[in-house]
Amino acid sequence: MTERYADVIIDIAHEKVDRVFQYRIPEALSESVRPGVQVRVPFGNGNRERTGYVVDLSEEADYPPEKIKAVISVDEKGMTVEGRQIRIAYWLKSNYGGTTIAALKTVLPVKQKQKRLEKKKVLRCLSVEEIAQAAGECERKRQRAKARVLAALQTEEELPYELIRQKLHVAASTLQALERQGYLRIEKEAFYRNPVKAADRSETRPVLNRAQRHIIEVLADYRAGHPGVYLVHGVTGSGKTEVYLGVIEKMIAMGKQAIMLIPEIALTYQTLLRFYKRFGDRVSVINSSLSAGEKYDQIERAKAGEIDVIIGPRSALFTPFANLGVIVVDEEHENSYKSESAPRYHARETAVEIASLCGASVMLGSATPSMEAYYRAGKGEYKLYEMMERPGNSVLPAVYTIDLRKELKEGNRSIFSRKLKELMENRLSRGEQTILFLNRRGYAGFISCRSCGHVMKCPHCDVSLSEHRNGMLTCHYCGYQEPKPAKCPSCGSPYLMGFKAGTEQVEEAIHREFPGARVLRMDADTTRRKDSYERILSAFADEEADILVGTQMIVKGHDFPGVTLVGVLAADLSLNRNDYRAGERTFQLLTQAAGRAGRGERPGEVVIQTYQPEHYSVVYAAKQDYRGFYGEEIAYRGLVGYPPVEHMLAVLIVSRVQEEGERLGEEMTNLVKKEMADAAGLKVIGPAPAAVGKIADLYRHSFYVRHGEYRILVEVKDRLENYCRERELRGQTVQFDFDPMNTF
Ligand code: ADP
Ligand code: ZN
Ligand code: ZN
Repeated sequence: MTERYADVIIDIAHEKVDRVFQYRIPEALSESVRPGVQVRVPFGNGNRERTGYVVDLSEEADYPPEKIKAVISVDEKGMTVEGRQIRIAYWLKSNYGGTTIAALKTVLPVKQKQKRLEKKKVLRCLSVEEIAQAAGECERKRQRAKARVLAALQTEEELPYELIRQKLHVAASTLQALERQGYLRIEKEAFYRNPVKAADRSETRPVLNRAQRHIIEVLADYRAGHPGVYLVHGVTGSGKTEVYLGVIEKMIAMGKQAIMLIPEIALTYQTLLRFYKRFGDRVSVINSSLSAGEKYDQIERAKAGEIDVIIGPRSALFTPFANLGVIVVDEEHENSYKSESAPRYHARETAVEIASLCGASVMLGSATPSMEAYYRAGKGEYKLYEMMERPGNSVLPAVYTIDLRKELKEGNRSIFSRKLKELMENRLSRGEQTILFLNRRGYAGFISCRSCGHVMKCPHCDVSLSEHRNGMLTCHYCGYQEPKPAKCPSCGSPYLMGFKAGTEQVEEAIHREFPGARVLRMDADTTRRKDSYERILSAFADEEADILVGTQMIVKGHDFPGVTLVGVLAADLSLNRNDYRAGERTFQLLTQAAGRAGRGERPGEVVIQTYQPEHYSVVYAAKQDYRGFYGEEIAYRGLVGYPPVEHMLAVLIVSRVQEEGERLGEEMTNLVKKEMADAAGLKVIGPAPAAVGKIADLYRHSFYVRHGEYRILVEVKDRLENYCRERELRGQTVQFDFDPMNTF
């Protein structure tokens, strides 16, 4: 009898223990210890009991067998990681960094098995005639409740227990008595939690146009080069969602399943309803607002083949379908597809990897494709389809670009340009709706001294505080608050004030300049409560307000047919960031914002107010010219060697002691330069204090490594991870971010 061993990853998120540990499998557990199960094992010098995940089995000991400890037990409550998911976890770790345990937990949307819910039902045990006779007898004996139950059981063979209790007003004891008398049986039945509420399923399907039909046919055709990666570049409202529905429908007809990714914020009732109408109970949803039990049940439903479609944000990627046909990534350019904690994976790239493991296709959709996706389409790695027109009567809006410098010179000190004001008045008088869009909360709110320039900053973080209407200054990184001082703490001057308007101030300005206008505001402050986002959107859709003011969250895929005017208050706020994606992000925001106007029968107008009307992001967005923008942006990226033309690895060092951060940064960059000397074209930039140099009293340093080949950067990361493990860091952590979306 040969011994068998399990390779176990211990559930401790620390680089030092980030490797497999071998354990002997005792005879009694030989059946139940399999790859993917969670086990309890003794760990460390004190042999403390820990949880671990089995990732492999072997018959050979890597150490002298007598030194190998034994598995204590299998954790029956722990979720099992499927074989394919273990592969994906290793792929995530290798391509994005972080520990193996963090990667395993990423692919497991729920870690623990959850209790199944049960409902009771009542089954008829005798023939209809016998029941009828018994019912009559009960009537005579004036046992009314019993008679009601038996009468109901004459027509139905089984009935929900709760229905009998509540609708027929029958006590539990009465049902038990009838069970003892042998008329009926009470049974328990497990059922899945379903977060999708049943709704009317009638839908009016538009007659698809040629472009739509063509994409659906190609994607579903297994002879035509399928599976593959497809990029659908279609302006907002061009009918992309109809294409997704059509493709998924074909996949289901072939016995396959679909994952539909959407940015978390875009997962509204409206969106879900469109899928529910098409697929009914075969569609479900998974997102962060579900309870653990609801999440667990959706995973189980997917495994059991009870659903064909799952809709959700990036974590829905890991839904374990048996026969995946397609992964759709809607609004693929969205930032939220990149994870902000390790492993910092990108849902688009991960979708491509998962699809290739499963023999499935990937379909990316956007009105403003990411530079990455369009670049790969240009190289032929993705197949590109364009849908540049809106079906029906709806046409693209007219766009006016307004130079705010000129407004000021000509004496207009309002945050609304004369053109925007005129159009807003016009909309109010016609009873049409307006959306006002302010790039980002937080840029606007910062407080400085007009006399000496002193900026009010958070004492724990290296960021400026923003002012709220209640007079408090708030840090958006750590939540620190202090009352706004009456005088500048640096020079004592009383001229301490907000620099530019935030969403709250815009709302105030509207009330001042357009008395009587009904205003809704949507930003991180007004949407903190669970369904407030949805509530504000539906109130606006129901035309309960004339004007909606908000940050970027209002530009996401919502249809407001009543909106005929969109105003962008300060288009260039997002350009003023030291971030190589600033131009791309500004173009996306402006284009998407403009796409909100005129989605109904009436044509729309867009006003873009800016201090930099000549900036190419603004110019191309005003012309709704994606390709023009892409051409200019990709030339710039190529020139400076930024993604997607080259790849970039950002390394963040977080330290309790500032000097230790500086020193580790020096050591790591020196190591890269020395050990990777043969990698021609490798560039190392930094180390330097990170863009936000301190958060919650921890110092942040960063450096960047760039190269044309991703795998070279993976090697850099591996070497740095090894170095950190050997150096046994104390009071310091290191994080990696490949092709980052945000600067550290
Ligand atoms: P997108 O996802 O690109 O924003 P949608 O699929 O939501 O676009 O379509 C926008 C609107 O146009 C929807 O109301 C949709 O029902 C309608 N629509 C889509 N395709 C067609 C078509 N071929 N003919 C008429 N209306 C269509
Ligand atoms: Zn001052
Ligand atoms: Zn802070």
